[in-house]
Amino acid sequence: MINLRESKYDEEIFKDLKIDCKKCFGFCCVALYFSASEGFPMDKEAGETCINLNSDFSCAVHNNLRKNGLKGCTAYDCFGAGQKVAQVTYGGYDWKQTPELKNQMFDVFLVMRQLNEMLWYLTDALTFIQLSTTKDELNLMIKETKELTNLDAKSIMEIDIEKHRVKVNSILRQVNELVEKRVTSDKKVNLKNKKSLISGYDFIGANLTKTNLIGEDLAGALLIATNLSNTNLAGTNLIGADLRDADIRGANLADSMFITQSQVNTAKGDSNTKLPRALVRPFYWDK
Ligand code: SF4
Repeated sequence: MINLRESKYDEEIFKDLKIDCKKCFGFCCVALYFSASEGFPMDKEAGETCINLNSDFSCAVHNNLRKNGLKGCTAYDCFGAGQKVAQVTYGGYDWKQTPELKNQMFDVFLVMRQLNEMLWYLTDALTFIQLSTTKDELNLMIKETKELTNLDAKSIMEIDIEKHRVKVNSILRQVNELVEKRVTSDKKVNLKNKKSLISGYDFIGANLTKTNLIGEDLAGALLIATNLSNTNLAGTNLIGADLRDADIRGANLADSMFITQSQVNTAKGDSNTKLPRALVRPFYWDK
C-alpha cells in the first residue's frame, strides 16, 4: 500500500474552502445559468432567481433535492466562494438590500469561485508528502491567491484570472510530476501491468477495473459512468475529470490528486470507497 498523502495534515487548512450556505445569500441559486436537463429545477438564465429559493436565502426543497431528481444542486460546490463574497467582500449586505450592486455581486462571486477552486487545488497539493522542493512555492502561491480573494469588489473584477491560473497550474504540474516520480520509484507499486492511458481521455462507460491507474494522469478525462470500482487511484491526477455516475464503489481515492467534493457528489460510491479526509461522503451513497 503506497502512502502519498501526509497522514497528519491539519484539516483546518480546507475550512474556508468548504461551502457554508447559511452564511451565503443564495448566489449559486441566482447567479448561475442552469438547465433542467442537468439536474436543476428548471431552465433559467444567469441572474434569474430559482423558484425554490426562500426569502431568507434557504432552499425550500433542501431535504428532498435527490428525491426530486435535482442532482445538479447536490453536486454543485462553490469552494466557499459564496460565504466569502457575502460576508467579506460585501460585509454581510445581500443583493436584496443593495439591488444596485446585485449584478456586480454575482460577477464577483464567479471570479471568487475560480480563485477558491485554485486555492483548493493548491491546498490539496500541500498535503502530499515528499514535496520539500515545492512547499515554499506552494505556500507563496496560496498566500498570493488569498490576497486576491481579500480585495474589494472593484479590484476583484480587475484581476487577470487567466494569468493567475497559468501560474497556479504551473506549480500544480510540478507537484503532479513529483508525485508521479514518487509512484514510479516506489517498490510497492507493481508497474508490470502498468501501461499509460495517454491514448485518450474519453472513457465514457468503459470498464477500467483491470487497469492499473496508480499515478495515472486523468486530468480532464471523461469518466462518465466509467467502472472504477475497487480500483486504486493513488497519485492519480483527477483535476477537472468528469466523474458523473462513475462507479467508485470500493475504490481508493484517499491519495488521489486534486479531487473535489463536487466530483465525489456526482459519482456513485459506497461505504467502502476511501476518500481524502477533507471530503465528505455523500449521504445518498450505497451503504
Ligand atoms: S433547488 Fe434549492 S439548491 Fe437548487 S438552485 Fe434552487 S434554491 Fe438553490
